Amino acid sequence: MPEYPPERIYAAARALLPDLDEPTRRRVEALLAQAEGGAATDLDILTLLTAHEATRERLRALLKGEATRGETLLGYEGLPGGLASTPGQVFVCPEPGCGYRYIIGEAGETPPPCPRHGKPLIPAGEKKER
Ligand SMILES: [Zn+2]
Repeated sequence: MPEYPPERIYAAARALLPDLDEPTRRRVEALLAQAEGGAATDLDILTLLTAHEATRERLRALLKGEATRGETLLGYEGLPGGLASTPGQVFVCPEPGCGYRYIIGEAGETPPPCPRHGKPLIPAGEKKER
């Protein structure tokens, strides 16, 4: 398998989670949690997910899909609606005092609006609390 950036592997692993058997899913979830804490667990995840034929095929398809989408995103970056979000990135409601947060699971994913205020979410770093 060609080499993929860790974020792409984490995103593909998240997409595969619902289809994994219970023990594998728990191990992948634990590794993803460690990844969010800053540990490099992408190779461990890759090893787990490529251990089974069925998962390996789906993982390859997902990684290829992400590659295609990533290239498209790069070409169209900056267009309205073309949000260059990254897995693990935190989006928040811009409304002061609102604690609604959304964590991106997949590269390029657009966060849903705040369920309380209906406002489009903004990257956590851009929120200015008064
Ligand atoms: Zn809100």
